[in-house]
Amino acid sequence: MTSQTDQQTLTELVSDRAALLKRLESADTSPLLMVLVHLGGDPAWLGRIAPHIKGPWSFHDETPETLKAELRTAVADVLEGYAASGHPLPLTPPKELLPAMLNACTGQVVPPEYYPLALEELDLAQVDPKTVKWRKEPDAKALSDFKVLVIGAGFSGVALGIKLKQAGIEHVIIEKNDEVGGTWYENTYPGIGVDTANHFYSYSFAINDDWNHFFAKGPEIEAYIKRNADINGIRENIRFEEEVDSAVWDETALIWNVEIRRADGSTYHTSANALVSAVGQLNRPQLPNIEGLDSFGGPAFHSARWDHSVDITGKKVAMIGTGASGMQIAPSIAPVVGELTIFQRSAHWAMHNPLYFEKVSDAKKWVLKNIPFYAKWFRFQLFWSSSDTFHDKLRIDPNWGDSARSLNADNAEVRKQLEAHIAKEVNYDPELIRKATPDFPPYGKRMLRDNHWYRMLVRPNVELVDLGIDHIEPGVIVDKGGNRHEADVIVMATGFQARRLLWPMNIVGRDGATIRERWGEDDPRAHLGITVPEFPNFFVIYGPNTNLAHGGSAVFHSECQIRYIMQALRELIETGQDALEVKPEPFWDYQDKVDAAHRGMVWSHPGVTSWYKNKDGRVTANSPWRLVDYRNLTETFNPEEYAFTSRADVKAKEHTA
Ligand code: NAP
Repeated sequence: MTSQTDQQTLTELVSDRAALLKRLESADTSPLLMVLVHLGGDPAWLGRIAPHIKGPWSFHDETPETLKAELRTAVADVLEGYAASGHPLPLTPPKELLPAMLNACTGQVVPPEYYPLALEELDLAQVDPKTVKWRKEPDAKALSDFKVLVIGAGFSGVALGIKLKQAGIEHVIIEKNDEVGGTWYENTYPGIGVDTANHFYSYSFAINDDWNHFFAKGPEIEAYIKRNADINGIRENIRFEEEVDSAVWDETALIWNVEIRRADGSTYHTSANALVSAVGQLNRPQLPNIEGLDSFGGPAFHSARWDHSVDITGKKVAMIGTGASGMQIAPSIAPVVGELTIFQRSAHWAMHNPLYFEKVSDAKKWVLKNIPFYAKWFRFQLFWSSSDTFHDKLRIDPNWGDSARSLNADNAEVRKQLEAHIAKEVNYDPELIRKATPDFPPYGKRMLRDNHWYRMLVRPNVELVDLGIDHIEPGVIVDKGGNRHEADVIVMATGFQARRLLWPMNIVGRDGATIRERWGEDDPRAHLGITVPEFPNFFVIYGPNTNLAHGGSAVFHSECQIRYIMQALRELIETGQDALEVKPEPFWDYQDKVDAAHRGMVWSHPGVTSWYKNKDGRVTANSPWRLVDYRNLTETFNPEEYAFTSRADVKAKEHTA
């Protein structure tokens, strides 16, 4: 239950007061307090409880039990009051209380610049504020003549499909797999899961109060995407097992001509007015270039192409790579395999979170489902816990003394806590501490969740090798120290070709410009990460400089991009223009701003090498912005930044020529 609770449901909810009070014992203090103040409007409760909420996670709550009991009683009283009076529940809390509520909800100060974002995320009035509405009834022919081709039916492609369907815009989604889900379909490695809390890592328009874990495992997320595709009838627009080979802009017809390859190798052509890439940055596996890899002889596969036909039980498994995927795989397989040898090129930082392994109890699910507005406040609390509050910790203080190890005082404090955690988890083994502690500041690479990685390292069947791989021979990996490590299976958790964005598709824009020529092998650029000069009516979701590495949720970001794209499409359809193309000035201005912002962030730190940067050291993958900045940048499509063309213009030009 979220907001528009009908009278009967409310009456049932309060019909057994003792049972309700008992059920409320499973509620977290912060969202329950929000429910009370929202419905009751009494700010005194904020004053009483807020001092005990020390931060945004539920484990930061230090409210005494007696006060929690009072809170539960007050919530029951308020709900009973509404049930008895028959008054509808207010959709929004008293406006003047919102700032204090947001502060109390998060146990921190939420600055006013976040209020629009907060209201949007909370969507208390249930109007789905990120959905783009027509400003005037679109011309029926203009609408029916307009077709969008979306590449990819992953988390973002399905969301865009939902929004296009709602707007009545004709579209087709080309998906290379035989199912929706993208990343969450392809990655099936043992331990696959998300490290952003799920009640936030999900669509804002499809809040799920049924997650089994606070940090769900892959199949549950995949099922969520499938469910949303099904509920919204998205499958009928998807062409499965087809891949876009090329897309060429027709400068006369002002359409994209797209060549599509079926699974059987045959091809066909189609056209679309607009082309949207929803393939993301992490779609094409990066295999390591190691001498002799081909001669290994045994099974060797990438983490995103896990070969489930290979039984690793009792086997000698070698894993190359210790990033987000490796950190989830190794602890999951270590208890099963005979020996696990982990080849680490660089150590990664990983943070402990007490909720990481916790299941959402049925009692908690009941609260999420049944207490009005609770799930929404809980989502906002998680948004705050995992997002912009970290951004300052990633900024380089030019006057900071210990600059090789940390960036500023806050960052140094994080480092201290992480180091203490590593030491404790590896039983203070000095050799393991040395190997497992990164030599760059925290957040230089994605901050991982400690998936019991460190305590796995002390297992007798696990060896962490940090000497680098020299070469591979049949059944043996030889490290740079000349040590020979026998292996039956190699797992390559070596990441993706993120910098070669959109590869291997051949995208050809105006005047024959190709994406590869413009971006090269590793320098993708787009205005707001979304549009590219010379490529009219072409949009990218999760494009250049939109990867989130300070915190937040990729779903949040893609929803911002989808809103922007939908506004751009609306602009075309409503104004009767046929093509839009970002002008060079705003594009380059944005590039300069992104680069300047990155210079002050940890990813540009000289001690950090990562897939975030290209060979020239330019950060191409990450967004330098806080979520609130990116939300504001993309909130409103600005037609002045774009050049518009219509077919009539083209004809007139041809005529003149
Ligand atoms: P990754 O973060 O790029 O990690 C790749 C690992 O392989 C790194 O440890 C890298 O070492 C190592 N490596 C690469 N090439 C190598 C080589 N030739 N020899 C030895 N080692 C090599 O890739 P990933 O772990 O698949 O994660 C990619 C991204 O996917 C993440 O950043 C995240 O955005 C997403 N992801 C998220 C989750 C989650 O939410 N839990 C899970 C998986 C993935 P260096 O560090 O030295 O480069």
